[in-house]
Amino acid sequence: MRIYVDFDDCLCETARYFTKIAARMFGKNVPYEDIKFFNLQKSFELNDDEYKQFMLEGHLSESLLAYDETPNASKVLNELMDKGHEVCVITGRPDCTYDDSRRWLDEHGLNRTKLYFLNKYGRDTFFPKGNYNLELEDFYKMDFDYAVEDSPLAFKYLDNFPKLKVLVFDRPWNQECALQDNYVRCPGWEFIKEQIK
Ligand SMILES: [Mg+2]
Repeated sequence: MRIYVDFDDCLCETARYFTKIAARMFGKNVPYEDIKFFNLQKSFELNDDEYKQFMLEGHLSESLLAYDETPNASKVLNELMDKGHEVCVITGRPDCTYDDSRRWLDEHGLNRTKLYFLNKYGRDTFFPKGNYNLELEDFYKMDFDYAVEDSPLAFKYLDNFPKLKVLVFDRPWNQECALQDNYVRCPGWEFIKEQIK
């Protein structure tokens, strides 16, 4: 089986880290549980200039390398790869973060995963486009059996794969969206492991 795995808030606790940045830079104290919108500008009530600073701060090397691993992510993915499954990390991060993103994976025992950058959210306006970008048409030529994803904004891309089973990583910002039959809400990695046969 080939498995698509999103990076932020599937493999690592990005939003929790962003709550600390928002508090430190702008005095915005929004608990993780209250991040109701995937749009962090909206969730933290930042103006355009604050949001730009916020995103740049979150994409610095020291930030990217400091994100905590989501419990059991590496353990479960290694078990799946040991069974012969292929894991492709498909992130919406700007591809200028390639070195730090690759390093984070390698430092967390995920050196066997492949890493691709797909502009899922249109955030590349903040960052120059580099060599690791995966174009949408090439992404659609890839084939996946399962996808682990937290962002409702990414679901529209996944709907181009008719046989895909989507494992929705349970997060405060995806509670409201109606899930189709091939979508399953997953509280964590041990649960995800049980879904992949
Ligand atoms: Mg994500």
